[in-house]
Amino acid sequence: MLELCTLASGSSGNSLLVSDGNTHILVDAGISCRRITTALKGLGIDPASLSAVLITHEHTDHISGLTTLTKQRKVPVYASRGTGRQLCYRIAFLDEVLHPFTPGESFSIGSIDIETFPTPHDAAESTGYALSQGGRKAAVVTDLGHVTPEVEAGIRGANLLVAEANHDVEWLRSGPYPYFLKDRILGNRGHLSNEAGAALVCSAVAAGASTVVLAHLSHENNTPERARQVVGDSLTRMGAVPGRDVLLDVAPRSEPGRRYAV
Ligand SMILES: [Zn+2]
Ligand SMILES: [Zn+2]
Repeated sequence: MLELCTLASGSSGNSLLVSDGNTHILVDAGISCRRITTALKGLGIDPASLSAVLITHEHTDHISGLTTLTKQRKVPVYASRGTGRQLCYRIAFLDEVLHPFTPGESFSIGSIDIETFPTPHDAAESTGYALSQGGRKAAVVTDLGHVTPEVEAGIRGANLLVAEANHDVEWLRSGPYPYFLKDRILGNRGHLSNEAGAALVCSAVAAGASTVVLAHLSHENNTPERARQVVGDSLTRMGAVPGRDVLLDVAPRSEPGRRYAV
């Protein structure tokens, strides 16, 4: 059985764990190695038994712990070719542990199957992941400016979805960010708003997802309550009531969240 637990989520750092009890896979390592180690121990996992790290893209909030993690533990790193190149520029000897792939390819780590798909984001070659075992699937899609057919296909059949709900569009527009930054976030290679995240969540739930974790919330332009309300209202309108038909949670910003059975 697969379990998923977010270790941190938001613009100050992202990392989550998917495990079947034997194979332990991190998606992103955007918090310090020390925090990752502490979080794993808290989950009863020996950090030395980490099987692999999958990287979505090279932005600091997804890789800041990777230098120390690969130096201390030689853990295998999986990344798209474009992301891998960027990681090698930044991290010495990363090529020794790097397993590059082309988004769209699938592979297995231990007994967990991994599907990969391209995501539209202002990075070299950003990637979404779906991890599955025994017919149960978890999909992780954050840091995307809009939902593409590849993203829709990538999350199809997911029982659990970790989806971006980055900002409230009106709060962002009227907020203090400089114009270029607002433009970047709102652009089609930026981040998903609560409303766009809600549409993605609704299509996943219509296709059978029963657990949804909202992630990568902006600290300045969103709140957990706001994200939950917008997505919850959309789900309720389509007849899937949170708490009754679907489990809807928001990933905590700076500490591990709940452990979900996939
Ligand atoms: Zn990013
Ligand atoms: Zn990010």
